[in-house]
Amino acid sequence: MKYLVSSCLAGVACRYNGTASLDAKIQELVEQEQAKMVCPELLGGFSTPREPAEIIGGTGKDVLSGTAKVIEKSGKDVTDLYIKGAYQTLEWAQKLDVTCVVLKEFSPSCGTQMIYDGNFANHKVVGEGVTSALLRQEGFTVISENEFMEQL
Ligand code: SF4
Repeated sequence: MKYLVSSCLAGVACRYNGTASLDAKIQELVEQEQAKMVCPELLGGFSTPREPAEIIGGTGKDVLSGTAKVIEKSGKDVTDLYIKGAYQTLEWAQKLDVTCVVLKEFSPSCGTQMIYDGNFANHKVVGEGVTSALLRQEGFTVISENEFMEQL
């Protein structure tokens, strides 16, 4: 399999607020069987809709090393579920032997270059989500939907 992609980019309404982030080109990859879809947050045990969450105190790498947390807007610590989803996604990527992973920018799981800053105030900072950080740590190429479009 060539690609693993964020399910919401392929049209699945799995975002925290019950919507998708459809990208027609990515949906096409799935239809043409060049890509499989994955939603790390659903794999971690969440359902849709769910509370928005942001990384507090660092980025995805720091969550994996135990120095940052993922917190829901109401204050609940959901770090363990984010880490679980990241490891489940890694298993899929390894089983499918994908060459590239295309993930949704800004998500605390899937962000590849930018994420929200942890204040729930719509401010973004440079950094990656928990799943992106783990996949890169394990040697996978992880790009955003925008980078994917630039490659076409
Ligand atoms: Fe999309 Fe990733 Fe969020 Fe799932 S975890 S809804 S795939 S951005």
